Amino acid sequence: MARGGDNTMDKLVSLCKRRGFVFRNSDIYGGLEATYDYGPLGVELKNNVKQQWWRDVVTSRADVVGMDAAIFMNSKVWEASGHVQEFHDPLVDCKNCKARYREDHMDMDKPCPACGIKDWTEPRQFNLMLKTHYGPSEDSASIIYLRPETAQGIFVNFLNAQGTARMKLPFGIAQIGKAFRNEITTGNFLFRSREFEQMELEFFVKPDESAEWLDRWVQSRFDWYKSLGVTESKLRLRQHEGDELAHYAADCYDVEYEFPFGWSELEGIADRGTYDLDQHAEHSGKKLTWFDPQNNEHITPAVVESSAGVDRTVLTILADAYHEEEVKGEQRTVLRLHPKLAPTTAAIYPLVNRDGLPEIAANIFDDLKGDFAAFYDAGGSIGRRYRRQDEAGTPFGITVDSDTLEDETVTIRERDSMKQERVPMSQLHDYISDKIR
Ligand code: ATP
Repeated sequence: MARGGDNTMDKLVSLCKRRGFVFRNSDIYGGLEATYDYGPLGVELKNNVKQQWWRDVVTSRADVVGMDAAIFMNSKVWEASGHVQEFHDPLVDCKNCKARYREDHMDMDKPCPACGIKDWTEPRQFNLMLKTHYGPSEDSASIIYLRPETAQGIFVNFLNAQGTARMKLPFGIAQIGKAFRNEITTGNFLFRSREFEQMELEFFVKPDESAEWLDRWVQSRFDWYKSLGVTESKLRLRQHEGDELAHYAADCYDVEYEFPFGWSELEGIADRGTYDLDQHAEHSGKKLTWFDPQNNEHITPAVVESSAGVDRTVLTILADAYHEEEVKGEQRTVLRLHPKLAPTTAAIYPLVNRDGLPEIAANIFDDLKGDFAAFYDAGGSIGRRYRRQDEAGTPFGITVDSDTLEDETVTIRERDSMKQERVPMSQLHDYISDKIR
């Protein structure tokens, strides 16, 4: 993936550090490549993304239940799923400088981008699963993998979840959790890291209904990114070509976003047929079927999978929200985050630190904080406070000034338009709730 001509990514990385969205992992020790830590604002944004997904995919639907599987799983799971044998990427080395690349991301007719010399090794397969030892002995029997996807935790719990929640086809099981891949080449910030989080849904259907359900989920997942305020013209669906499809998949679509470094995958939605349950049934010897009362038969459901990355969604939202503009001759950087995702919904500012204004502002903060992510800021000139919150993506600024003492109104400044309006203090809750909706 080529890096874009502009320096938007550099600016975004710098803003993320400056404002406390994302830090380099183990920063004081020089960092750990391709691993990131979310800071005070970043964790709020990330949690809001996950909560929104959970609400839209799980709790607002009668046909989906959630679960939370452990990261460690019996190694037989990864043999059954095919990950031990097949979860690899083609690796090539530059014989001159020893740099390593994914062959499918490179033009092998060109020289090494690191040293400019063309002297490649033959490509070989590199398994992406990270291994460790489970328990006190370090022999081959104790080898265990950090899960490279959360989906298998769902498949092995198919009977548990279906039975206890009394679900009938079609129904889904969803979960959010960490996944780990020993990626050969990393980069583009949060886009490709070795530790990341996934939001996955496995939707079980009668096999002859899978194509229809794939269409529905593709549309629904595409619309979800629009509902987060992502610019529609920067989103697209890409259907996989025949030779790109996994051998068991009937059809697959990627939701792609036009990042500053080019169009790239945000999420994959696939019709996986009965492959996953068949594999686990064969390897475990357990019957992973559902009894269809209409036809009086046991069937193996097919699965439509939606697999999205939390970190790639966060990166999309940040990149999409990032704007620089000139206001009255001065440069302003603003994150136009959707109010339902913004780490802080409303910042409350006393205009000056006297005349009882800080006390009134503190009361407003106390009043709002139970329902909204509120923030109290009395530090520095009002212009500087606005700029700080513009960079943090805070949609509403509430200023308490001397008029407040007279008529119990405050000024609300809207982040994007910078328009200001007077609103009675008593109506703040309703005003903010309406805007978020
Ligand atoms: P790629 O081709 O970019 O390596 P993939 O097709 O292997 O991705 P999937 O296995 O379909 O990805 O994973 C599902 C989702 O998990 C991806 O769409 C992405 O959002 C997320 N994801 C996968 N690998 C990473 C990673 N290394 N870092 C961050 N997110 C990832």
